[in-house]
Amino acid sequence: MSQAVGQAGHQAAVIDGKAFAASLRGRVAEEVKRLQAEHGLTPGLAVVLVGENPASQVYVRNKNKQTLEAGMHSVEHKLSAETSQEALLSVVQELNDDSSINGILVQLPLPSQIDAEAVINAIDPAKDVDGFHVVNAGRLATVQSAMVPCTPLGCLMMLKDHLGELSGANAVVIGRSNIVGKPMAQLLLKESCTVTIAHSRTRDLPAVCRGADILVAAVGRPEMVRGDWIRPGATVIDVGINRLEPSEPGGKARLVGDVAYDEAAAVAGAITPVPGGVGPMTIACLLANTLTAACRSHGLPDPQL
Ligand code: NAD
Repeated sequence: MSQAVGQAGHQAAVIDGKAFAASLRGRVAEEVKRLQAEHGLTPGLAVVLVGENPASQVYVRNKNKQTLEAGMHSVEHKLSAETSQEALLSVVQELNDDSSINGILVQLPLPSQIDAEAVINAIDPAKDVDGFHVVNAGRLATVQSAMVPCTPLGCLMMLKDHLGELSGANAVVIGRSNIVGKPMAQLLLKESCTVTIAHSRTRDLPAVCRGADILVAAVGRPEMVRGDWIRPGATVIDVGINRLEPSEPGGKARLVGDVAYDEAAAVAGAITPVPGGVGPMTIACLLANTLTAACRSHGLPDPQL
């Protein structure tokens, strides 16, 4: 028999992002097949990588692999770390003009000689599958049809899948970045949650968190959110990915989230693990956004995923 929340032995339900992402990728692949069969269209994604950041190389490899697995056209542009802003802008322009490409992603971070904001804002907003262009940020904020950033979109999908209706829930988002915290808050507001955005200057963060039915942590500080910050039964989405180096020589590095998982799982109603929670959803949502961009560019309705 399951234990009531707050009682000894209680364990939160685990929101399995890996399984959810696999099923979303499957639905995207089905829709791609349908687009090909009915309209002769193959969505195309171009990823631009500047420099040799090892984490970025891994992300780009995975994006390319999963794009191909979904039946889409995939293009990779690898540029040297010394690439000038002008050269990068001309690659973006070529991709804007290429009708076989529906989605363009410039992998961040970019080297210091490049103004990342200028590059992102040079992408055609209709092909901005990361949803970072100022036009898409504005469209999301004003509840117009937008390209929505992949990580918060994945969080929202998991929340809706787990909770159903979100209307009226108290949601606390920790973090106010343009790529996670802010768009996450906009999406929750759109779902009629009462949203609080907490950040590095928030006073008494534990008390703010205790008011949350939905708590999203996007900070980048290992295990900062403790079990006693969580309202019993709350749904906790842990966006943080933090690498902890081994304490002993020869030991293994460990990935942890922004939430102290074991403590939180003893109180929360449901929680995403790290790894295997939000992470896998990000690329799945990138594929979904590329498919959506392809449909919109041909005047077709958004796919129902
Ligand atoms: P960021 O550094 O741009 O923003 C962090 C935010 O946390 C800031 O708004 C800051 O105000 C807030 N913050 C910092 N210290 C705080 C404190 N002590 N108390 C309260 N708030 C504090 O980071 P980001 O790009 O938004 O990413 C956040 C985390 O999410 C990172 O761990 C990152 O690796 C991870 N991330 C994961 C994915 C994924 O696919 N799962 C995608 C993007 C980011």
